[in-house]
Amino acid sequence: MSSVQVQCTRCKNVFRDHAGRLQDGYSRQCPGCEVVLFFAEDSQHPFIKRAMRNARKVRKELREAEVARLLVPDSPAAPSRSSQGRRQAPGRSE
Ligand SMILES: [Zn+2]
Repeated sequence: MSSVQVQCTRCKNVFRDHAGRLQDGYSRQCPGCEVVLFFAEDSQHPFIKRAMRNARKVRKELREAEVARLLVPDSPAAPSRSSQGRRQAPGRSE
């Protein structure tokens, strides 16, 4: 999952938002009370701090998963080698 839990600083409503968006300078409205929440790295609010920390962790995990996928040599789009090394004998053998 690439979303993290965010808790509203006003109504305490808990909702989810994408970890990729929850970065310094991001803001969004609470779906419950419609207050605008500001996400900043230097926020003093524990709810915001927690959401930022969780988002950072999820983004890191996503990045590591991406790297791991790129390192796997087995790719389904690998070029086919079936046209090489096997020659059909000309003429029918039957
Ligand atoms: Zn709210």
